[in-house]
Amino acid sequence: MRVLNGRTVVSGIAIGNICTLFSEEEKSVSHYKISDNNIESELTRFDKGLESARQELHQYISESGKNFDQTASKIFESHLMILSDKKLSAMVKKTIKDKKINAEHAIYDTFDDFIEKYEHKNLHFQEIVHDFKDVRDTLLEQFETKFKNVSCPIPEREPVIIAAKRLSPYMMSDLSHDNILAFVTEEGGFTTHASVLAASLDIPFIFNVPVVENSECNDFAIVDAIDEKFILHPDQKTIDKYEKKRVEFQKNLVEYKKISTQPAKTSDDIRLDLKVTVNLPNEIDLLEGHNFDGIGLLRTEFLFMDKNQPPSLEEQFQVYKHAARAASNKPVTIRLLDIGADKTPQYLNLPYQKNPDLGIKGARAVDHFQEVFETQVLALLKAAKFGDIRILFPMVADISDILTFKQLVENAENKSENAEFGNLSIGAMIETPSAAMLIDEILEIVDFINIGSNDLLQYTLAASRETPGVYKRYHSIHPALIKLIKRIVKKAKQHNKEASLCGEIANYAEGYPLFLDMGIESFSVPVSKHSIIKHKIAEINTNDLDGIKEKFIRARNKEEINNLLQKY
Ligand code: PEP
Ligand code: MG
Repeated sequence: MRVLNGRTVVSGIAIGNICTLFSEEEKSVSHYKISDNNIESELTRFDKGLESARQELHQYISESGKNFDQTASKIFESHLMILSDKKLSAMVKKTIKDKKINAEHAIYDTFDDFIEKYEHKNLHFQEIVHDFKDVRDTLLEQFETKFKNVSCPIPEREPVIIAAKRLSPYMMSDLSHDNILAFVTEEGGFTTHASVLAASLDIPFIFNVPVVENSECNDFAIVDAIDEKFILHPDQKTIDKYEKKRVEFQKNLVEYKKISTQPAKTSDDIRLDLKVTVNLPNEIDLLEGHNFDGIGLLRTEFLFMDKNQPPSLEEQFQVYKHAARAASNKPVTIRLLDIGADKTPQYLNLPYQKNPDLGIKGARAVDHFQEVFETQVLALLKAAKFGDIRILFPMVADISDILTFKQLVENAENKSENAEFGNLSIGAMIETPSAAMLIDEILEIVDFINIGSNDLLQYTLAASRETPGVYKRYHSIHPALIKLIKRIVKKAKQHNKEASLCGEIANYAEGYPLFLDMGIESFSVPVSKHSIIKHKIAEINTNDLDGIKEKFIRARNKEEINNLLQKY
Protein backbone atom coordinates (compact mmCIF):
# COMPACT_ATOMS: atom_id res chain seq x y z
CA MET A 1 0.00 0.00 0.00
CA ARG A 2 1.29 3.45 -0.87
CA VAL A 3 -0.18 6.82 0.08
CA LEU A 4 0.47 9.88 -2.11
CA ASN A 5 -0.70 13.36 -1.16
CA GLY A 6 -2.55 15.64 -3.56
CA ARG A 7 -4.79 18.70 -3.70
CA THR A 8 -8.56 18.46 -3.90
CA VAL A 9 -10.58 20.20 -6.56
CA VAL A 10 -13.85 18.29 -6.13
CA SER A 11 -14.47 16.42 -2.85
CA GLY A 12 -15.53 12.77 -2.68
CA ILE A 13 -14.28 9.21 -2.34
CA ALA A 14 -13.69 6.70 -5.14
CA ILE A 15 -12.54 3.09 -4.95
CA GLY A 16 -11.67 1.14 -8.10
CA ASN A 17 -9.25 0.39 -10.92
CA ILE A 18 -7.12 2.99 -12.61
CA CYS A 19 -7.28 3.80 -16.30
CA THR A 20 -4.38 5.95 -17.48
CA LEU A 21 -4.78 8.52 -20.21
CA PHE A 22 -1.50 9.55 -21.67
CA SER A 23 -0.32 12.20 -24.04
CA GLU A 24 3.21 11.67 -25.23
CA GLU A 25 3.49 15.15 -26.58
CA GLU A 26 6.99 15.57 -27.96
CA LYS A 27 7.33 12.01 -29.22
CA SER A 28 4.36 12.10 -31.52
CA VAL A 29 4.94 15.53 -33.11
CA SER A 30 6.83 15.09 -36.36
CA HIS A 31 9.78 17.39 -36.99
CA TYR A 32 11.28 17.74 -40.46
CA LYS A 33 12.87 20.30 -42.76
CA ILE A 34 11.18 21.43 -45.97
CA SER A 35 12.71 22.76 -49.14
CA ASP A 36 12.09 26.26 -50.56
CA ASN A 37 9.82 24.72 -53.16
CA ASN A 38 7.56 23.25 -50.50
CA ILE A 39 7.05 26.36 -48.38
CA GLU A 40 3.85 27.43 -50.17
CA SER A 41 2.27 24.00 -49.94
CA GLU A 42 3.24 23.76 -46.24
CA LEU A 43 1.53 27.11 -45.58
CA THR A 44 -1.60 25.82 -47.32
CA ARG A 45 -1.36 22.63 -45.25
CA PHE A 46 -1.23 24.77 -42.10
CA ASP A 47 -4.27 26.83 -43.22
CA LYS A 48 -6.25 23.65 -43.83
CA GLY A 49 -5.30 22.28 -40.41
CA LEU A 50 -6.25 25.56 -38.78
CA GLU A 51 -9.64 25.56 -40.50
CA SER A 52 -10.26 21.96 -39.54
CA ALA A 53 -9.35 22.74 -35.87
CA ARG A 54 -11.86 25.60 -35.95
CA GLN A 55 -14.53 23.26 -37.27
CA GLU A 56 -13.75 20.80 -34.51
CA LEU A 57 -14.08 23.52 -31.89
CA HIS A 58 -17.45 24.57 -33.31
CA GLN A 59 -18.48 20.94 -32.96
CA TYR A 60 -17.36 20.85 -29.30
CA ILE A 61 -19.27 24.09 -28.65
CA SER A 62 -22.49 22.78 -30.14
CA GLU A 63 -22.25 19.42 -28.35
CA SER A 64 -21.07 20.69 -24.97
CA GLY A 65 -24.63 21.27 -23.77
CA LYS A 66 -25.28 17.49 -23.76
CA ASN A 67 -23.05 16.79 -20.76
CA PHE A 68 -22.12 20.10 -19.22
CA ASP A 69 -23.63 23.40 -18.23
CA GLN A 70 -22.70 26.64 -20.05
CA THR A 71 -19.16 26.65 -18.65
CA ALA A 72 -18.01 24.11 -21.23
CA SER A 73 -19.16 26.08 -24.25
CA LYS A 74 -17.53 29.22 -22.80
CA ILE A 75 -14.23 27.33 -22.47
CA PHE A 76 -14.33 26.11 -26.06
CA GLU A 77 -15.34 29.56 -27.27
CA SER A 78 -12.30 31.08 -25.54
CA HIS A 79 -10.11 28.46 -27.26
CA LEU A 80 -11.70 29.34 -30.58
CA MET A 81 -10.71 32.95 -29.95
CA ILE A 82 -7.07 31.95 -29.39
CA LEU A 83 -7.15 29.86 -32.54
CA SER A 84 -8.64 32.70 -34.54
CA ASP A 85 -5.96 35.16 -33.43
CA LYS A 86 -4.43 36.47 -36.66
CA LYS A 87 -1.12 37.33 -34.98
CA LEU A 88 -0.69 33.78 -33.77
CA SER A 89 -1.26 32.20 -37.18
CA ALA A 90 1.04 34.83 -38.74
CA MET A 91 3.75 33.80 -36.28
CA VAL A 92 3.40 30.11 -37.13
CA LYS A 93 3.58 30.93 -40.84
CA LYS A 94 6.65 33.09 -40.33
CA THR A 95 8.31 30.21 -38.45
CA ILE A 96 7.51 27.81 -41.31
CA LYS A 97 9.05 30.24 -43.80
CA ASP A 98 12.08 31.39 -41.78
CA LYS A 99 13.09 28.05 -40.34
CA LYS A 100 11.91 25.97 -43.32
CA ILE A 101 10.21 23.43 -41.09
CA ASN A 102 6.95 21.49 -41.26
CA ALA A 103 3.70 22.97 -39.91
CA GLU A 104 3.52 20.72 -36.79
CA HIS A 105 7.05 21.66 -35.78
CA ALA A 106 6.30 25.38 -36.29
CA ILE A 107 3.06 25.14 -34.29
CA TYR A 108 4.90 23.42 -31.48
CA ASP A 109 7.71 26.00 -31.39
CA THR A 110 5.38 29.00 -31.59
CA PHE A 111 3.13 27.80 -28.79
CA ASP A 112 6.17 26.79 -26.77
CA ASP A 113 7.38 30.39 -26.79
CA PHE A 114 4.09 31.53 -25.24
CA ILE A 115 4.00 28.66 -22.79
CA GLU A 116 7.54 29.31 -21.62
CA LYS A 117 6.85 32.99 -21.19
CA TYR A 118 3.94 32.34 -18.83
CA GLU A 119 5.07 29.13 -17.18
CA HIS A 120 7.52 30.78 -14.79
CA LYS A 121 5.31 33.69 -13.94
CA ASN A 122 2.84 34.07 -11.16
CA LEU A 123 0.57 31.11 -10.45
CA HIS A 124 -2.29 33.13 -11.90
CA PHE A 125 -0.79 32.48 -15.33
CA GLN A 126 -0.88 28.73 -14.95
CA GLU A 127 -4.34 28.58 -16.43
CA ILE A 128 -3.27 30.51 -19.50
CA VAL A 129 -0.50 27.95 -19.93
CA HIS A 130 -3.09 25.16 -19.82
CA ASP A 131 -5.23 26.96 -22.41
CA PHE A 132 -2.29 27.31 -24.77
CA LYS A 133 -1.40 23.64 -24.38
CA ASP A 134 -5.00 22.60 -25.06
CA VAL A 135 -5.35 24.76 -28.15
CA ARG A 136 -1.94 23.65 -29.45
CA ASP A 137 -2.87 19.97 -29.06
CA THR A 138 -6.22 20.42 -30.79
CA LEU A 139 -4.45 22.10 -33.68
CA LEU A 140 -1.72 19.46 -33.85
CA GLU A 141 -4.30 16.69 -33.90
CA GLN A 142 -5.45 17.91 -37.30
CA PHE A 143 -2.07 16.78 -38.61
CA GLU A 144 -2.53 13.23 -37.41
CA THR A 145 -0.65 13.81 -34.18
CA LYS A 146 -2.21 11.57 -31.58
CA PHE A 147 -2.51 12.73 -27.98
CA LYS A 148 -5.70 11.60 -26.40
CA ASN A 149 -4.87 7.95 -25.97
CA VAL A 150 -6.38 5.63 -23.49
CA SER A 151 -3.80 3.03 -22.65
CA CYS A 152 -6.04 0.60 -20.79
CA PRO A 153 -7.48 -2.73 -21.69
CA ILE A 154 -10.34 -2.08 -19.27
CA PRO A 155 -13.79 -3.12 -20.50
CA GLU A 156 -15.84 -0.14 -21.68
CA ARG A 157 -18.56 -0.40 -19.12
CA GLU A 158 -16.45 -0.81 -16.02
CA PRO A 159 -16.30 2.39 -13.94
CA VAL A 160 -12.70 3.56 -13.50
CA ILE A 161 -10.50 6.15 -11.84
CA ILE A 162 -9.02 8.26 -14.63
CA ALA A 163 -5.32 9.00 -14.12
CA ALA A 164 -3.41 11.41 -16.34
CA LYS A 165 -0.45 13.71 -16.41
CA ARG A 166 -2.79 16.52 -17.33
CA LEU A 167 -6.43 16.69 -18.36
CA SER A 168 -7.71 18.99 -21.03
CA PRO A 169 -11.37 20.00 -21.42
CA TYR A 170 -11.35 17.99 -24.68
CA MET A 171 -10.29 14.81 -22.93
CA MET A 172 -13.03 15.40 -20.37
CA SER A 173 -15.58 15.95 -23.10
CA ASP A 174 -14.58 12.80 -24.98
CA LEU A 175 -14.90 10.49 -21.96
CA SER A 176 -18.02 8.62 -21.09
CA HIS A 177 -18.94 10.28 -17.80
CA ASP A 178 -21.16 7.52 -16.48
CA ASN A 179 -18.12 5.31 -16.06
CA ILE A 180 -15.80 7.69 -14.25
CA LEU A 181 -15.31 7.33 -10.52
CA ALA A 182 -12.71 10.08 -10.08
CA PHE A 183 -9.91 12.04 -11.73
CA VAL A 184 -6.30 12.05 -10.50
CA THR A 185 -3.68 14.14 -12.28
CA GLU A 186 -0.09 15.23 -11.90
CA GLU A 187 -0.55 18.76 -13.23
CA GLY A 188 -3.60 20.89 -12.64
CA GLY A 189 -5.03 23.73 -10.62
CA PHE A 190 -8.13 24.72 -8.72
CA THR A 191 -9.61 26.71 -11.54
CA THR A 192 -8.19 25.09 -14.67
CA HIS A 193 -10.83 24.31 -17.23
CA ALA A 194 -10.61 20.58 -16.53
CA SER A 195 -11.28 21.37 -12.86
CA VAL A 196 -14.24 23.56 -13.69
CA LEU A 197 -15.75 20.78 -15.80
CA ALA A 198 -15.11 18.11 -13.15
CA ALA A 199 -16.91 20.36 -10.65
CA SER A 200 -19.89 20.74 -12.97
CA LEU A 201 -20.03 16.92 -13.30
CA ASP A 202 -19.52 16.48 -9.54
CA ILE A 203 -16.80 13.89 -10.07
CA PRO A 204 -14.10 13.76 -7.33
CA PHE A 205 -10.82 15.24 -8.56
CA ILE A 206 -7.35 15.56 -7.02
CA PHE A 207 -4.21 16.89 -8.66
CA ASN A 208 -0.54 17.25 -7.76
CA VAL A 209 -0.25 13.48 -7.40
CA PRO A 210 2.68 11.77 -9.17
CA VAL A 211 0.20 9.21 -10.42
CA VAL A 212 1.50 8.34 -13.89
CA GLU A 213 5.01 7.48 -12.80
CA ASN A 214 3.82 5.47 -9.80
CA SER A 215 0.93 3.45 -11.17
CA GLU A 216 -0.20 1.36 -14.10
CA CYS A 217 -3.50 0.69 -15.79
CA ASN A 218 -5.71 -1.62 -13.82
CA ASP A 219 -3.96 -0.93 -10.51
CA PHE A 220 -6.45 -0.86 -7.68
CA ALA A 221 -6.61 2.45 -5.80
CA ILE A 222 -8.59 4.77 -3.57
CA VAL A 223 -9.05 8.47 -4.23
CA ASP A 224 -9.72 10.33 -1.00
CA ALA A 225 -10.62 13.77 -2.29
CA ILE A 226 -11.81 14.71 1.18
CA ASP A 227 -8.45 14.36 2.92
CA GLU A 228 -6.44 14.90 -0.29
CA LYS A 229 -4.88 11.44 -0.59
CA PHE A 230 -4.37 8.84 -3.30
CA ILE A 231 -3.90 5.32 -1.96
CA LEU A 232 -2.38 2.73 -4.27
CA HIS A 233 -2.88 -1.01 -3.66
CA PRO A 234 -4.84 -0.50 -0.43
CA ASP A 235 -5.10 -3.43 1.99
CA GLN A 236 -8.49 -4.88 2.86
CA LYS A 237 -8.76 -3.01 6.15
CA THR A 238 -8.22 0.31 4.35
CA ILE A 239 -10.72 -0.60 1.62
CA ASP A 240 -13.36 -1.40 4.25
CA LYS A 241 -12.67 1.86 6.06
CA TYR A 242 -12.98 3.86 2.85
CA GLU A 243 -16.09 2.04 1.73
CA LYS A 244 -17.75 3.27 4.93
CA LYS A 245 -16.39 6.79 4.38
CA ARG A 246 -17.67 6.76 0.80
CA VAL A 247 -21.18 5.68 1.80
CA GLU A 248 -21.26 8.29 4.59
CA PHE A 249 -20.14 11.03 2.18
CA GLN A 250 -22.72 10.07 -0.46
CA LYS A 251 -25.44 9.99 2.18
CA ASN A 252 -24.61 13.51 3.35
CA LEU A 253 -23.89 15.04 -0.05
CA VAL A 254 -27.18 16.93 -0.32
CA GLU A 255 -26.71 18.27 3.20
CA TYR A 256 -23.14 19.37 2.40
CA LYS A 257 -24.36 21.34 -0.60
CA LYS A 258 -27.08 23.05 1.41
CA ILE A 259 -24.82 23.90 4.32
CA SER A 260 -22.07 25.47 2.20
CA THR A 261 -24.08 28.68 1.91
CA GLN A 262 -24.90 28.81 5.63
CA PRO A 263 -22.84 30.00 8.61
CA ALA A 264 -21.17 27.53 11.01
CA LYS A 265 -23.51 26.88 13.95
CA THR A 266 -23.95 24.12 16.54
CA SER A 267 -27.35 22.50 17.08
CA ASP A 268 -27.79 24.68 20.19
CA ASP A 269 -27.19 27.77 18.05
CA ILE A 270 -23.63 28.65 19.04
CA ARG A 271 -22.10 30.55 16.14
CA LEU A 272 -18.48 29.66 15.37
CA ASP A 273 -15.97 31.37 13.16
CA LEU A 274 -15.05 29.10 10.25
CA LYS A 275 -12.46 30.76 8.06
CA VAL A 276 -10.68 29.57 4.95
CA THR A 277 -7.05 28.55 4.61
CA VAL A 278 -5.53 29.56 1.28
CA ASN A 279 -2.31 27.91 0.10
CA LEU A 280 -2.12 28.96 -3.53
CA PRO A 281 -3.19 32.36 -4.83
CA ASN A 282 -5.62 30.88 -7.34
CA GLU A 283 -7.54 29.14 -4.56
CA ILE A 284 -8.97 32.57 -3.83
CA ASP A 285 -11.20 32.16 -6.89
CA LEU A 286 -12.82 29.09 -5.34
CA LEU A 287 -14.37 31.03 -2.50
CA GLU A 288 -17.30 32.42 -4.45
CA GLY A 289 -20.62 30.96 -3.37
CA HIS A 290 -19.33 29.77 0.03
CA ASN A 291 -20.36 31.24 3.32
CA PHE A 292 -17.06 31.74 5.19
CA ASP A 293 -15.91 34.06 7.95
CA GLY A 294 -12.87 35.45 6.19
CA ILE A 295 -9.47 34.06 5.31
CA GLY A 296 -7.87 32.62 8.44
CA LEU A 297 -4.48 31.87 6.93
CA LEU A 298 -3.09 32.86 3.56
CA ARG A 299 0.28 31.15 3.19
CA THR A 300 2.39 33.44 1.01
CA GLU A 301 5.34 31.09 0.39
CA PHE A 302 3.91 29.93 -2.91
CA LEU A 303 4.20 33.43 -4.33
CA PHE A 304 7.93 33.14 -3.73
CA MET A 305 8.53 29.60 -4.98
CA ASP A 306 9.36 28.37 -8.52
CA LYS A 307 10.85 31.69 -9.57
CA ASN A 308 14.24 33.27 -10.06
CA GLN A 309 13.62 36.22 -7.77
CA PRO A 310 11.10 37.36 -5.15
CA PRO A 311 7.79 38.71 -6.47
CA SER A 312 7.68 42.48 -6.88
CA LEU A 313 5.72 44.78 -4.57
CA GLU A 314 3.12 45.31 -7.31
CA GLU A 315 2.71 41.59 -8.00
CA GLN A 316 2.16 40.88 -4.31
CA PHE A 317 -0.14 43.87 -3.88
CA GLN A 318 -2.43 42.55 -6.68
CA VAL A 319 -2.72 39.12 -5.00
CA TYR A 320 -3.40 40.56 -1.52
CA LYS A 321 -5.92 43.06 -2.91
CA HIS A 322 -7.65 40.24 -4.80
CA ALA A 323 -7.90 38.26 -1.53
CA ALA A 324 -9.32 41.30 0.29
CA ARG A 325 -11.96 41.78 -2.39
CA ALA A 326 -12.86 38.07 -2.47
CA ALA A 327 -13.41 38.12 1.29
CA SER A 328 -15.71 41.16 0.90
CA ASN A 329 -14.78 43.06 4.07
CA LYS A 330 -14.32 39.98 6.22
CA PRO A 331 -10.87 39.60 7.81
CA VAL A 332 -8.03 38.36 5.61
CA THR A 333 -5.10 36.97 7.60
CA ILE A 334 -1.94 37.03 5.52
CA ARG A 335 1.15 35.36 6.91
CA LEU A 336 4.52 36.93 6.23
CA LEU A 337 6.85 34.72 4.26
CA ASP A 338 7.52 31.60 6.34
CA ILE A 339 10.60 30.17 4.68
CA GLY A 340 12.90 27.41 5.84
CA ALA A 341 12.77 23.60 6.04
CA ASP A 342 10.14 22.42 3.51
CA LYS A 343 9.65 25.83 1.84
CA THR A 344 12.88 27.38 0.65
CA PRO A 345 13.09 29.37 -2.60
CA GLN A 346 16.38 28.56 -4.30
CA TYR A 347 17.29 32.14 -5.15
CA LEU A 348 17.56 33.02 -1.45
CA ASN A 349 20.60 30.76 -1.29
CA LEU A 350 20.07 29.64 2.27
CA PRO A 351 23.20 27.97 3.58
CA TYR A 352 23.15 24.22 4.20
CA GLN A 353 21.52 23.64 7.56
CA LYS A 354 22.04 20.47 9.50
CA ASN A 355 18.76 20.93 11.32
CA PRO A 356 16.56 23.18 9.12
CA ASP A 357 13.49 23.03 11.38
CA LEU A 358 15.61 24.48 14.16
CA GLY A 359 17.59 26.81 11.92
CA ILE A 360 16.79 29.79 9.71
CA LYS A 361 13.03 29.41 9.52
CA GLY A 362 10.01 31.69 10.06
CA ALA A 363 10.87 34.69 12.23
CA ARG A 364 14.60 33.89 12.11
CA ALA A 365 14.72 34.67 8.38
CA VAL A 366 14.06 38.39 8.91
CA ASP A 367 17.65 39.18 9.88
CA HIS A 368 18.87 37.50 6.68
CA PHE A 369 16.35 38.80 4.16
CA GLN A 370 15.27 42.18 5.56
CA GLU A 371 14.53 43.67 2.13
CA VAL A 372 12.26 40.80 1.07
CA PHE A 373 10.15 41.25 4.20
CA GLU A 374 10.09 45.05 3.84
CA THR A 375 8.66 44.74 0.32
CA GLN A 376 6.05 42.28 1.51
CA VAL A 377 4.95 44.54 4.38
CA LEU A 378 4.66 47.50 2.00
CA ALA A 379 2.47 45.43 -0.35
CA LEU A 380 0.27 44.42 2.60
CA LEU A 381 -0.08 48.00 3.82
CA LYS A 382 -1.18 49.05 0.33
CA ALA A 383 -3.67 46.18 0.12
CA ALA A 384 -5.07 47.11 3.54
CA LYS A 385 -6.81 50.01 1.81
CA PHE A 386 -9.07 47.45 0.16
CA GLY A 387 -10.18 45.33 3.09
CA ASP A 388 -9.63 44.09 6.63
CA ILE A 389 -6.07 42.81 6.24
CA ARG A 390 -4.39 41.15 9.20
CA ILE A 391 -0.69 40.48 9.13
CA LEU A 392 0.54 37.29 10.74
CA PHE A 393 4.09 36.75 12.06
CA PRO A 394 5.36 33.20 11.43
CA MET A 395 7.09 30.91 13.89
CA VAL A 396 7.87 33.33 16.69
CA ALA A 397 9.72 31.81 19.63
CA ASP A 398 10.58 34.91 21.56
CA ILE A 399 9.12 38.31 22.40
CA SER A 400 12.03 39.85 20.50
CA ASP A 401 10.80 38.09 17.32
CA ILE A 402 7.48 39.92 17.58
CA LEU A 403 9.16 43.21 18.39
CA THR A 404 11.40 42.84 15.32
CA PHE A 405 8.37 42.22 13.09
CA LYS A 406 6.48 45.11 14.66
CA GLN A 407 9.43 47.40 14.05
CA LEU A 408 9.45 46.29 10.41
CA VAL A 409 5.78 47.25 10.06
CA GLU A 410 6.33 50.55 11.89
CA ASN A 411 9.26 51.46 9.63
CA ALA A 412 7.19 50.67 6.56
CA GLU A 413 4.26 52.74 7.85
CA ASN A 414 6.61 55.67 8.42
CA LYS A 415 7.55 55.54 4.74
CA SER A 416 4.06 56.57 3.78
CA GLU A 417 3.80 60.26 3.06
CA ASN A 418 0.36 60.11 1.58
CA ALA A 419 -2.79 58.14 2.20
CA GLU A 420 -1.85 55.11 0.13
CA PHE A 421 -1.71 52.73 3.14
CA GLY A 422 -4.56 51.19 5.13
CA ASN A 423 -4.57 49.93 8.73
CA LEU A 424 -3.34 46.46 9.60
CA SER A 425 -4.07 44.30 12.64
CA ILE A 426 -1.14 42.32 13.91
CA GLY A 427 -1.07 38.69 14.99
CA ALA A 428 1.37 35.91 15.81
CA MET A 429 1.50 32.24 14.93
CA ILE A 430 1.72 30.21 18.12
CA GLU A 431 3.60 27.19 16.85
CA THR A 432 6.58 26.78 19.16
CA PRO A 433 6.34 25.55 22.75
CA SER A 434 8.23 28.68 23.75
CA ALA A 435 5.52 30.94 22.26
CA ALA A 436 2.92 28.83 24.05
CA MET A 437 4.70 29.34 27.37
CA LEU A 438 5.05 33.09 26.75
CA ILE A 439 1.44 33.41 25.69
CA ASP A 440 0.48 36.09 28.27
CA GLU A 441 3.31 38.36 27.19
CA ILE A 442 2.56 37.78 23.49
CA LEU A 443 -1.15 38.48 23.88
CA GLU A 444 -0.29 41.82 25.45
CA ILE A 445 1.42 43.02 22.26
CA VAL A 446 -0.63 41.50 19.40
CA ASP A 447 -4.25 41.83 18.26
CA PHE A 448 -4.90 38.11 17.69
CA ILE A 449 -3.17 34.73 17.54
CA ASN A 450 -3.28 31.72 15.22
CA ILE A 451 -2.45 28.33 16.68
CA GLY A 452 -0.27 26.56 14.08
CA SER A 453 -0.95 22.98 15.08
CA ASN A 454 1.46 21.39 12.56
CA ASP A 455 4.59 23.01 13.91
CA LEU A 456 3.36 23.18 17.49
CA LEU A 457 2.97 19.42 17.35
CA GLN A 458 6.38 18.72 15.83
CA TYR A 459 8.22 20.97 18.27
CA THR A 460 6.23 19.78 21.29
CA LEU A 461 6.70 16.10 20.53
CA ALA A 462 10.20 16.63 19.12
CA ALA A 463 9.02 14.57 16.12
CA SER A 464 9.64 16.01 12.66
CA ARG A 465 6.69 16.50 10.24
CA GLU A 466 8.91 15.35 7.40
CA THR A 467 10.74 12.28 8.67
CA PRO A 468 9.03 8.98 7.83
CA GLY A 469 10.94 7.23 10.64
CA VAL A 470 9.01 9.20 13.25
CA TYR A 471 5.59 9.48 11.55
CA LYS A 472 4.14 7.19 14.17
CA ARG A 473 5.07 9.71 16.82
CA TYR A 474 3.67 12.68 14.92
CA HIS A 475 0.09 12.11 15.97
CA SER A 476 -2.06 15.17 15.76
CA ILE A 477 -4.54 14.67 18.58
CA HIS A 478 -1.88 14.05 21.18
CA PRO A 479 -2.65 14.70 24.88
CA ALA A 480 0.37 17.03 25.18
CA LEU A 481 -0.87 19.18 22.30
CA ILE A 482 -4.38 19.26 23.71
CA LYS A 483 -3.09 20.46 27.09
CA LEU A 484 -1.05 23.15 25.41
CA ILE A 485 -3.84 24.39 23.13
CA LYS A 486 -6.31 24.38 26.02
CA ARG A 487 -3.99 26.68 27.94
CA ILE A 488 -3.43 28.99 24.93
CA VAL A 489 -7.17 29.33 24.29
CA LYS A 490 -7.92 30.03 27.95
CA LYS A 491 -5.30 32.79 28.07
CA ALA A 492 -6.59 34.34 24.82
CA LYS A 493 -10.07 34.53 26.36
CA GLN A 494 -8.67 36.21 29.46
CA HIS A 495 -6.99 38.79 27.24
CA ASN A 496 -10.09 39.14 25.10
CA LYS A 497 -8.15 38.30 21.92
CA GLU A 498 -9.11 35.90 19.14
CA ALA A 499 -7.33 32.52 19.03
CA SER A 500 -7.89 30.67 15.79
CA LEU A 501 -6.90 27.04 15.22
CA CYS A 502 -5.20 26.20 11.92
CA GLY A 503 -2.99 23.44 10.54
CA GLU A 504 -3.95 19.82 9.87
CA ILE A 505 -5.65 19.18 13.21
CA ALA A 506 -8.35 21.74 12.35
CA ASN A 507 -9.21 19.70 9.24
CA TYR A 508 -10.43 16.68 11.25
CA ALA A 509 -14.19 16.94 11.39
CA GLU A 510 -14.17 14.17 14.03
CA GLY A 511 -12.13 16.37 16.38
CA TYR A 512 -14.70 19.16 16.63
CA PRO A 513 -16.57 17.93 19.75
CA LEU A 514 -13.18 18.01 21.47
CA PHE A 515 -12.22 21.42 20.04
CA LEU A 516 -15.51 22.96 21.17
CA ASP A 517 -15.10 21.45 24.63
CA MET A 518 -11.65 23.08 24.73
CA GLY A 519 -13.33 26.43 24.15
CA ILE A 520 -12.00 27.05 20.62
CA GLU A 521 -14.38 29.33 18.72
CA SER A 522 -12.41 30.13 15.57
CA PHE A 523 -10.92 27.82 12.95
CA SER A 524 -9.23 28.04 9.58
CA VAL A 525 -9.58 25.13 7.14
CA PRO A 526 -9.34 24.65 3.35
CA VAL A 527 -12.54 25.49 1.52
CA SER A 528 -12.81 21.85 0.37
CA LYS A 529 -13.39 20.87 4.02
CA HIS A 530 -15.85 23.60 4.91
CA SER A 531 -19.13 21.81 4.27
CA ILE A 532 -18.03 18.60 5.97
CA ILE A 533 -16.89 20.48 9.06
CA LYS A 534 -19.99 22.71 9.14
CA HIS A 535 -22.08 19.56 8.93
CA LYS A 536 -20.22 18.05 11.88
CA ILE A 537 -20.53 21.28 13.89
CA ALA A 538 -24.29 21.36 13.21
CA GLU A 539 -24.57 17.90 14.83
CA ILE A 540 -22.89 19.04 18.06
CA ASN A 541 -24.82 20.26 21.09
CA THR A 542 -22.36 22.05 23.38
CA ASN A 543 -24.44 21.04 26.44
CA ASP A 544 -23.50 17.41 25.78
CA LEU A 545 -19.74 17.93 25.68
CA ASP A 546 -18.98 17.82 29.35
CA GLY A 547 -15.48 16.65 30.03
CA ILE A 548 -14.48 15.25 26.62
CA LYS A 549 -11.15 17.06 26.74
CA GLU A 550 -10.25 15.44 30.08
CA LYS A 551 -10.80 12.03 28.52
CA PHE A 552 -8.52 12.88 25.58
CA ILE A 553 -5.86 14.22 27.94
CA ARG A 554 -5.96 10.96 29.88
CA ALA A 555 -5.66 8.82 26.70
CA ARG A 556 -2.48 6.72 26.83
CA ASN A 557 -2.00 5.83 23.16
CA LYS A 558 -3.21 6.31 19.59
CA GLU A 559 -5.81 3.53 19.84
CA GLU A 560 -7.46 5.14 22.85
CA ILE A 561 -7.48 8.50 21.05
CA ASN A 562 -9.01 6.93 17.93
CA ASN A 563 -11.65 5.19 20.02
CA LEU A 564 -12.60 8.50 21.60
CA LEU A 565 -12.76 10.17 18.17
CA GLN A 566 -15.18 7.48 16.96
CA LYS A 567 -17.30 7.83 20.07
CA TYR A 568 -18.02 11.58 19.92
C1 PEP B 1 1.26 25.17 11.17
O1 PEP B 1 2.44 25.01 11.47
O2 PEP B 1 0.30 24.62 11.74
C2 PEP B 1 0.91 26.06 10.05
C3 PEP B 1 -0.33 26.38 9.78
O3 PEP B 1 1.93 26.50 9.28
P1 PEP B 1 2.66 25.61 8.13
O4 PEP B 1 1.94 24.31 8.06
O5 PEP B 1 2.59 26.41 6.90
O6 PEP B 1 4.03 25.50 8.71
MG1 MG C 1 3.96 26.41 10.69
